[in-house]
Amino acid sequence: MKIGIPKGLLYYKYYTFIDSFLEELQVDFITSQDTNREILDLGVKNSVDDACLPIKIFHGHVASLKDKCDAILVPRFMSTSKGEYICPKFCGLPEMVSNSIEGLPKLIVEPIYGLDQKHLYNFSNKIAKKMGFNNHKVREAFINALDKQRKFNTQKSMPQNKYKIALVGHPYNVFDKYMNMDIINKLNKINISAITEEYVEQKTINEEIKDLFKRPFWYFARNSYGFASYVSENKLVDGIIYISSFACGIDSIVIELIKDKVRDIPILVLKIDEQTGEAGFDTRIEAFTDMLERRCS
Ligand code: SF4
Repeated sequence: MKIGIPKGLLYYKYYTFIDSFLEELQVDFITSQDTNREILDLGVKNSVDDACLPIKIFHGHVASLKDKCDAILVPRFMSTSKGEYICPKFCGLPEMVSNSIEGLPKLIVEPIYGLDQKHLYNFSNKIAKKMGFNNHKVREAFINALDKQRKFNTQKSMPQNKYKIALVGHPYNVFDKYMNMDIINKLNKINISAITEEYVEQKTINEEIKDLFKRPFWYFARNSYGFASYVSENKLVDGIIYISSFACGIDSIVIELIKDKVRDIPILVLKIDEQTGEAGFDTRIEAFTDMLERRCS
């Protein structure tokens, strides 16, 4: 059986784990292409109008795979840790996909109740069983895949360019080059480094959110706020760019929390949807980076 892996949403954060796990099990799998115009158009055509851009793009990835494999893996994220949740669209994703796209092959759907080792193992074990593997082989594949993901996650060293910008947002907005019009490269070309939340240790991020009157119960809110707060307080960056999907409820709150906390460095919020034009996007980045240079010189 050939398994299709849609390259969307949290694939951008956990691709090392999922690819390694399937490789270790010697599963025949296919990952959808990098997001491109065709995938975006498929997503827009095959999803409800009021879905956010990342959800539409995920639909596009699923639609692009439907005739190329025997089953498609669509995880159902219910919770990321005790008392902490993820956007409801992640919980209902399998239903959104199966009710919007016609002619799909079988979907492999399993809920995930946490990103710790125990919950990830439960999830991995269940999807592997659906693919016909036994416990012993799964355990070994899981441990090796987790090890690779942990090595991938180890703290990166700060780049040394003259100016540094914290690129804040959900991993799929920050790392999908088509969705964010390759912003990291655009910044690098003008000698500005982009620092993402992966540069800061998770325990540091968790410390930062203790300033809030209440611990955020959204996974994305914790990471984005904790990261932006830490890098600005410690003067590790000259500015912040927040990449936000139009109509994202979580972003609408986190952006205000960050603006409230970060007082002495400039923040640019770039909203993206399927109508966003590259020329306008570039103009805003150029104006922001010009202002940073004037401010720092
Ligand atoms: S968190 Fe926001 S951007 Fe992400 S899927 Fe939910 S609504 Fe869309």
